[in-house]
Amino acid sequence: MIHFVGAGSGAEDLITLRGAKHLAQADVVIYAGSLVNPALLKNCRPDCEIHDSASMTLEEVLAVMDRAESQGKTTVRLHTGDPSIYGAIREQMDALDARGYSYDVTPGVSSFCGAAAALKAEYTLPNVSQTVIITRAEGRTPVPEGEQLRKLASHGSTMVLFLSSSLLEKAQQELMEGGYSPDTPAAIVYKATWPDEKVFRCTVSTLAETARANQVTKTALITVGGFLGSDYDRSLLYDPGFSHGCREASR
Ligand code: SAH
Repeated sequence: MIHFVGAGSGAEDLITLRGAKHLAQADVVIYAGSLVNPALLKNCRPDCEIHDSASMTLEEVLAVMDRAESQGKTTVRLHTGDPSIYGAIREQMDALDARGYSYDVTPGVSSFCGAAAALKAEYTLPNVSQTVIITRAEGRTPVPEGEQLRKLASHGSTMVLFLSSSLLEKAQQELMEGGYSPDTPAAIVYKATWPDEKVFRCTVSTLAETARANQVTKTALITVGGFLGSDYDRSLLYDPGFSHGCREASR
C-alpha cells in the first residue's frame, strides 16, 4: 500500500491527523526534501527507511516503491503542501495503476492557504473578487497559451503565483499589461507557516524590486489583487437583512 500524503505548507503541526498516522506507521517514507519540513520525520518509526526525493528521478522513486511493494511494506510518499498543486503525483499514480498497486491520497494544507494565514487575508471578498487564480509564470516549464499571465490578469481577480519568485521582472510586466494597475496591492510570502516566515507587502509594479531587495528567490508565493486592500462589502450570509436556509432576516 502506498499513501500519498500532503505534508502541509511548513509548520510541523499543520499535517492532518490522517497524514500523521500514516507517517507514524510507515515502513518506507519518500519525502520531498527541498520543501517538506524534516521535523515531520520525527514521528516516523525508528526502523523506517527514509528517502529524500530531492535528488531522485521519477524512475528512482518508483524503484523504491517497487521494492517496498514486493516486500509487502507500507510506503508514504510525502509531498509539500497539498499534493494536487504542482505535486507531480499524476505520473506516479499512473505508474502505480499500471503495476496494479493500491494507493490513496491524504490532502494537505497548501502553501496558498498558509500564505493567506500569514497575510491575515481573505482571498474572496464581496465586491472585490470571488475568484482565486492559482498559476505560475512561465519559466523552463511551459504554460499553455490560453493561460499566459497577461490573459489571466484581464480578470482582475485574486491571483496566487507559485514557482515564480525568480521570474518577477517579466511577470509584473505581464500582470500590468494584462490589466492590473501598477498600484494594485501585492505581497510576497516567503516560507509561509515556517518558523522563518516573512511577508513583504508591495504593489504589482514593485514586485521584482521587493524580491530583489529582500533576496527572495525561492520558497515564496506572490499574491496580487484588491483583497490586499481595505475596500470590500460585508457578506450577505451574516447580514441581518438576508434570509437563508438556517436563518430568517431580522429586518
Ligand atoms: N504542493 C505545494 C506546491 C509545490 S510547488 C503546495 O500545495 O503548496 C513548490 C512551490 O510552492 C514553491 O516554489 C513556492 O512557490 C510554493 N511554496 C511551497 N511551500 C511554500 C511556503 N511554505 N511558503 C511560500 N511558498 C511556498
